[in-house]
Amino acid sequence: MALRIEKAAADKRKAKPADQSRLGFGRFVTDHMLRCDWTRDQGWHEHRIVPYGPLNLDPAALVLHYGQQVFEGLKAYYGRDGAIHLFRPRDNLARLNRSARRLCLPEVDVEDVMAGLRELILLEKDWIPTANGASLYIRPTLIASEAVLGVQVAAECLLYIIVGPVGAYYAEGFAPTKIFVTERYVRAVIGGVGEAKTSANYAASLLAAEEAYAKGYTQVLWLDACDKKSIEEVGTSNIFFKFEDELVTPPLTGSILPGITRDTVLTLARDRGLTVNERRITIDEVIAGCGDGSLQEAFATGTAAVISPVGEINHQGQTSVVGDGRVGELSRSLYDEILDIQYGRRPDPHNWVVKL
Ligand SMILES: *Cc1c(COP(=O)(O)O)cnc(C)c1O
Repeated sequence: MALRIEKAAADKRKAKPADQSRLGFGRFVTDHMLRCDWTRDQGWHEHRIVPYGPLNLDPAALVLHYGQQVFEGLKAYYGRDGAIHLFRPRDNLARLNRSARRLCLPEVDVEDVMAGLRELILLEKDWIPTANGASLYIRPTLIASEAVLGVQVAAECLLYIIVGPVGAYYAEGFAPTKIFVTERYVRAVIGGVGEAKTSANYAASLLAAEEAYAKGYTQVLWLDACDKKSIEEVGTSNIFFKFEDELVTPPLTGSILPGITRDTVLTLARDRGLTVNERRITIDEVIAGCGDGSLQEAFATGTAAVISPVGEINHQGQTSVVGDGRVGELSRSLYDEILDIQYGRRPDPHNWVVKL
């Protein structure tokens, strides 16, 4: 597919953040974005790299009323070899297409988007931070842009990709989080949109997160919608539990987002010879494991933080400490191993890294 590049005028370009240790997450965007329009009659049009700026959406655009939207999140890294690395990008685009099918949005051509993304990142390469753990965050977004107020599947859509430098998630060290088990709210139900990466899931999670923050917790632990017993996810991440002789994560039953970091952890843990099970795990089993010491570690997984250790769980007003409340050996070593692969500091036996 054709790719047209319209560069931002020199005097319209932003100053790059000076201090790489204070990038935070999502605070900076670069000077350009990729966009591609789709209509039912013509399919996808040419990809265009254009100056970063407002989208000029009609106020009646379907996405603004009925939430027909899906997105992705991945990162570009400066590898030790000086090359720009992407981590499993085609898995993200394949998931974008699975999410799109669920939301009745058009699927993208993975190789066309890869080609456009490559040009965008090469154009913005001076924005990619070099500090360990820092990266260029990539946000592909697919929305229904057709302007019509009746509820219907959009005949006009828009894919755009914006990118921006983000810092190491743990600027102040790798610290365990405190999580709050909600029994009042649910994130997703089987048959709903929980396994699609769509804005609705985030909108649905905000109130529970606000109430957890107000109580001094960083994340919400989500249980299944039916009997509020089985663990599903934590915040906007997948979750793992390390018992004495088993690593457990909930199975992909339909209400859980199939995380790429989740799959990476499952693969690396199996490579190490650990006993790994994708099985139903209840909150009662986890609380009992805190009590008798059989639960050694718990951690969340996702692209932004990679591995986020859990130190404390509040369930029905009772606080339980996971392991000794500190970062566990498995959490730390998986975090190091994944970053080493992403930055090209150790071999990549599963060919996850794509060099630009
Ligand atoms: C994106 C996301 C994840 C993590 O997926 P990764 O591919 O590992 O980044 C987990 N849960 C939810 C709800 C998500 O949106």
